[in-house]
Amino acid sequence: LDPAAEPELTDGFHLVIDALKLNGIETIYGVPGIPITDLGRMAQAEGIRVISFRHEQNAGNAAAIAGFLGKKPGVCLTVSAPGFLNGLTALANATTNCFPMILISGSSEREIVDLQQGDYEEMDQLAIAKPLCKAAFRVLHAADIGIGVARAIRAAVSGRPGGVYLDLPAKLFSQVMDAEAGAKSLVKVIDPAPAQIPAPAAVDRAIDLLKGARRPLVILGKGAAYAQADEEIRAFIEKSGLPFLPMSMAKGLLEDTHPQSAGAARSTALKEADVVLLVGARLNWLLSHGKGKTWGDAPKKFIQVDIEPREMDSNVEIAAPLVGDIGSVIAALNARLDGSWQAPPAEWIENIRTKKEANIAKMAPKLLKNSVPMDFHGALGALKTVVKERPDAILVNEGANTLDLARGIIDMYRPRKRLDVGTWGVMGIGMGFAIGAAVETGKPVLAVEGDSAFGFSGMEVETICRYALPVTIVIFNNNGIYRGTDTDPTGRDPGTTVFVPGARYDKMMEAFGGVGVNVTSPDALYRAVSAAMDSGKPTLINAEIDPAAGSESGNIGSLNPQSVVKKK
Ligand code: ADP
Ligand code: MG
Repeated sequence: LDPAAEPELTDGFHLVIDALKLNGIETIYGVPGIPITDLGRMAQAEGIRVISFRHEQNAGNAAAIAGFLGKKPGVCLTVSAPGFLNGLTALANATTNCFPMILISGSSEREIVDLQQGDYEEMDQLAIAKPLCKAAFRVLHAADIGIGVARAIRAAVSGRPGGVYLDLPAKLFSQVMDAEAGAKSLVKVIDPAPAQIPAPAAVDRAIDLLKGARRPLVILGKGAAYAQADEEIRAFIEKSGLPFLPMSMAKGLLEDTHPQSAGAARSTALKEADVVLLVGARLNWLLSHGKGKTWGDAPKKFIQVDIEPREMDSNVEIAAPLVGDIGSVIAALNARLDGSWQAPPAEWIENIRTKKEANIAKMAPKLLKNSVPMDFHGALGALKTVVKERPDAILVNEGANTLDLARGIIDMYRPRKRLDVGTWGVMGIGMGFAIGAAVETGKPVLAVEGDSAFGFSGMEVETICRYALPVTIVIFNNNGIYRGTDTDPTGRDPGTTVFVPGARYDKMMEAFGGVGVNVTSPDALYRAVSAAMDSGKPTLINAEIDPAAGSESGNIGSLNPQSVVKKK
């Protein structure tokens, strides 16, 4: 080789790619278009896996869940203005859920945007992104790409993780600079999410409270799942003997069948507990803000483990704030479970156990019903068995009744295997999460989707088929949102919450070369899902559910405002 022929120049395209690679970013999720089409092509050529979607929101959701699963930022790449806005929904959702993610969008020329002269896809993207994410940066010079990417990565994963926006104007990509200077300008982020050790006095305060408790309870949230401190957390629960309640995405951190799980006695546990230790769970609407009927009349004291100091006292007084990263905090608590530690009062443990067994026994017959048409319980009973037989599979879940009932019915056995609508209870994460999970882990994914929820991201079945991902989608098809029974009182149109009756979503999958199956009974559902997951082939199973089986808004119907003057 002639050394004189070696390239001496680099450019914006290559510096972005090199900066991402240097920091261990292996995958980009996105939708190609002006001005980032070539960036995607070149990234693929340089060995980065580039997964092209049909809509940016789904690419963004895939990046967000990659961040949650891998503890490093998931990257989403979009075009300007509309593509950026589509991706921004996912970025805002990632931030709300504390998932590390970076949205990189191409943008149009500053000179024209700032004078509002009407450029192609003109938009002041940086200003729009700023209030909706944790941090937002723009890079104008190729020499700053290294530092820009480094800042984005550190902002996404340090402290409370979240979404970061990185604005790259079109002109940046073709800027050239000396290759050696370019290489030197790159920054490998050292210790991007440093350990945060809790103060010893804060640990004492928490331990004193726990020791004085008569009815202690631990609540594990998705922050605990994110932290990947699985062994420390298990050791803490088992050594302390404390009962625990997992939030939705913390299910499986310890298996739902664990003797100390209070999952099936949730209402009793919340009402009667006197000291509650929150580990990576916020006292937001999902925990009724720590007050009211859900929490009963017994006075309560809260201990909260969180990396974000300002989370403390967000809703009620936190008697013992434990600020630090979950791994370090739980390790500190474990070190204090010495000879002076006593297991919680037997009466409390017995109380939870009795309640739990009664609830499980009450539910059991409903899950075995093999009726046609299926109701939610019969269908979910079948899926519960499928997941039990494949504890390593990842469950993605969205919908109303499909979500609320699946969360309670399907037991999880391993950490970070349940991915769902999260803090906003947002619909539309389904296919993005399924694709992100399959790409990141290589494990089989089962997406259990309400028919309405599926509609928000359904076109990505093409993406699933194109990349031949091991994703099995089950549509709980009850012909509508909540139920499939509404009618228009004027007789003009279909009811506002209903879809085409008897729709065959399985045919969509066949259109792209995937496997489509239509089932009407829980037994057939069990067989079809088992076969699909064993085959690893992209499959969509249309499960016909009784249109009258659901309830309005699933478990959260009480959040619907009521009209006092509504005409019947
Ligand atoms: P859930 O919805 O499961 O209750 P939330 O999303 O409400 O969970 O809460 C997660 C919490 O975990 C957030 O307050 C976040 O700051 C915190 N968190 C995330 N990662 C860590 C970590 N590594 N260490 C400590 N706290 C964390
Ligand atoms: Mg429905």
